[in-house]
Amino acid sequence: MGEVKALRCITCGKEYSPDDVEYTCPKCGPRRGTLEVIYDYETVAKQLTRESLAADQERTMWRYLPLLPIPDRRFIQPLRVGYTPLYSYDEYARELGLGALYIKDDGQNPTASYKDRASSVAVIKAQEKGKRVVTAASTGNAASSLAGFSAATKLKTMIFVPRTAPEAKVTQLLIYGAKVFLVNGSYDVAYDLAAEAAEEFGWYNRSAAVNPYLVEGKKTGALELAEQMAWNPPDVVLVGVGDGSVVSGICKGFSELQKIGLIDRLPQVIGVQAEGSAPIAASFSKYDGNTVAIDDIEAETVADSICVGKPRDIVKAVTYVHANGGRFITVSDKQIMAAIATMARRTGVFPEPAGAAPFAGLLKLAAQGDIAGKSAAVMVTGNGLKDIATARRVAGSAIEIEPTLAVVKEHL
Ligand SMILES: *Cc1c(COP(=O)(O)O)cnc(C)c1O
Ligand SMILES: [Zn+2]
Repeated sequence: MGEVKALRCITCGKEYSPDDVEYTCPKCGPRRGTLEVIYDYETVAKQLTRESLAADQERTMWRYLPLLPIPDRRFIQPLRVGYTPLYSYDEYARELGLGALYIKDDGQNPTASYKDRASSVAVIKAQEKGKRVVTAASTGNAASSLAGFSAATKLKTMIFVPRTAPEAKVTQLLIYGAKVFLVNGSYDVAYDLAAEAAEEFGWYNRSAAVNPYLVEGKKTGALELAEQMAWNPPDVVLVGVGDGSVVSGICKGFSELQKIGLIDRLPQVIGVQAEGSAPIAASFSKYDGNTVAIDDIEAETVADSICVGKPRDIVKAVTYVHANGGRFITVSDKQIMAAIATMARRTGVFPEPAGAAPFAGLLKLAAQGDIAGKSAAVMVTGNGLKDIATARRVAGSAIEIEPTLAVVKEHL
């Protein structure tokens, strides 16, 4: 079982006991004072070995429990989270000039997004802390997954989403029984409101970044990818970036695997942002290894899940990707839209726009010859059925016909 040794501030480095702080470093504040969860890696290395994992029958992310901030199994939900499939495409890889192409389909989680990895941890933490209400601000997926994982508990869920959230995501929230506030404002506005409400009413806050335990859930995608590739991870891993928590989790996951001796070499992590919502990519390009620049913007992109102008995990994302030796790139909305259809048609995996963004990034890098001969994995973070309206714009149209074979023949 995972035992947290300390929570360490990403900016000032001060270490706290998990009982002494709830969310962020009091000295550095909620934006720069995000906390990293530190374990006793010598102990973890003894508990998590290639052999122990090979013998473990558990096909969920809970197989990595010694490296998760969860002291016992008491509050683990029955929903199967993680251990999502990894697919490989040899012919398509050759066509793109890559050594290998892998797709990890996190649309197959219980509520159909990568966020389930984090929400499942949040729901456990809220119960451990004896909370009755959990809240989150979300572009959609974080909330619907929180609502899904709370559903089978006594927790009540209060959700703040921007008014523009796709219908499927709002419907998910309502059907799981959450109280949903459609905020007249952007995700960034909804985020601040949720934080204020959590403070005022004593709710547990699952919002990205401020809660140190969420990145722990989000790192499990990296652990699985490495294990599914027999501890020989690909050269590059691409993932979509909004708040920066998922990309931070993936970097931390690989780094911890290296620390406990399960992998020898770090894959290069490439964070992909939408052009109209790329404050982390902008900050990274200026980063000199010292202070992370924070310049918020008004974000706009078709990829609602990564439409974030005020990224809350920017400090971790920039620091971790720098330490990983990775980088950030941007793609246009046009490239994202095209990638939805290309990915569905070439791989059989139907992504939501934010899940297609890293694939758009891969196609862009491949076309530039930037990753020639390399093995690449794309993290598909959300299922395409989450946002039908956008997919319809690139799907083409069906043919309306009278029910005769002659008419069918005319259209062939
Ligand atoms: C949340 C989300 C992301 C990005 O995660 P961040 O932690 O906000 O960077 C990417 N894709 C999907 C589908 C998401 O829901
Ligand atoms: Zn600090």
